[in-house]
Amino acid sequence: MRSPFVLHIDIDAFFAAAEVMMRPGLKGKPVIIGGMPDERGVVSTASYEARKFGVHSGMALRNAGRKCPEGVFLRGRFHIYERISRQFFKCLSRFSPVVEAVSVDEAYIDLSGMTYIHSSVYEIVSRIKDAVEKEIGLKVSAGLGYTKLGAKLATEAAKPGGIFFMDDEKEFISGLSLEKIPGIGPHTLLILQGMGIKRVRELRAKNFSLWKRVIGHYFYSSPGEYKKNKEPKTRSFSRETTFMNDIRDRNMILSHLAYLLDRLSVYLVEKGLYAGKVEVKVRFSDFSTFTARVSLDFPTYSYQDIWGRSVPLLDKLLKRRELPLRLVGIKVEEITDNRSLLPFVTIRGEVLSKTITAIKKKYGFSSIFTAREFLLNNVYPVEKEGVVLKTASLTK
Ligand SMILES: [Mg+2]
Repeated sequence: MRSPFVLHIDIDAFFAAAEVMMRPGLKGKPVIIGGMPDERGVVSTASYEARKFGVHSGMALRNAGRKCPEGVFLRGRFHIYERISRQFFKCLSRFSPVVEAVSVDEAYIDLSGMTYIHSSVYEIVSRIKDAVEKEIGLKVSAGLGYTKLGAKLATEAAKPGGIFFMDDEKEFISGLSLEKIPGIGPHTLLILQGMGIKRVRELRAKNFSLWKRVIGHYFYSSPGEYKKNKEPKTRSFSRETTFMNDIRDRNMILSHLAYLLDRLSVYLVEKGLYAGKVEVKVRFSDFSTFTARVSLDFPTYSYQDIWGRSVPLLDKLLKRRELPLRLVGIKVEEITDNRSLLPFVTIRGEVLSKTITAIKKKYGFSSIFTAREFLLNNVYPVEKEGVVLKTASLTK
């Protein structure tokens, strides 16, 4: 039998376990991270003690409060989790050059080839597990498989605190219910369930082409070859405009920039995308063109947060010439749809951008503007779906 070569490793009940480690008085208590039981929002992590009451991550806090009235509810201290997460990955990277982060507390590790160095793959896994637990002070679970899906499913079976080897992965996957399979969304799931298809093997029997599309690659991928997830495509989105007449007034330039960013931010919200970098562009009346860019503190679609970094860029650019501007533009880059780090942090600016987008969607783009953008009302016709700029261009 060939050696399993993909290891999936995951910290058990990470945020809750971290709090218990910091405050030993919480040991054995049902600890629930995410907020207070009378607050809006959801549980981000529940300790195993809390899970016995039926509390799980993603559940509304109020619901968790009803199910587990004696639970210790905590908001969470993300700087602590971040520090532990860094230790976790640092420790893993000592064992393999190929460590792929899935989230703050979860990674895939390519073990292929390592059995040549060490005696057995099981020995390697228990050595990694011991080292990580000693270093971060928290329990982890480890799953071994021939593919990533197999390894991840093995970890589920190993929890809490164990090591599990997915021996016959194809058989195991065939017996799984469809909601366990990444790539089958809630919509598809409903349709399939309506057709009486609940498990992977039933899907294969009744709708082979769909099976082949969403599951087939797990079966056809050649073992012994570690497939690293594709890096997110480097994409960028930009909005720029040439003015009706060249403009010298900084406030008026800012108004244009604000409007262009508004359009970009709404676009990102609607697409569920986050930007990691922003670039501002200016063209002076002599056609000389300059750009300046900066990384955002975290990938975001928040108008407020992107705006805060854009204004200093514009001011820097305006110093390049003593001339009026003919064009201003803004571009966001390093686009991702998957911000795996700290998904439970609420970013105020994002809440605002989401709300504004919802209002615009319902009542038209021009139904709500920032005071900055509102200045444009004096210069351009405003229609329901936006300001009619002289030339608006948008690139993808
Ligand atoms: Mg975990």
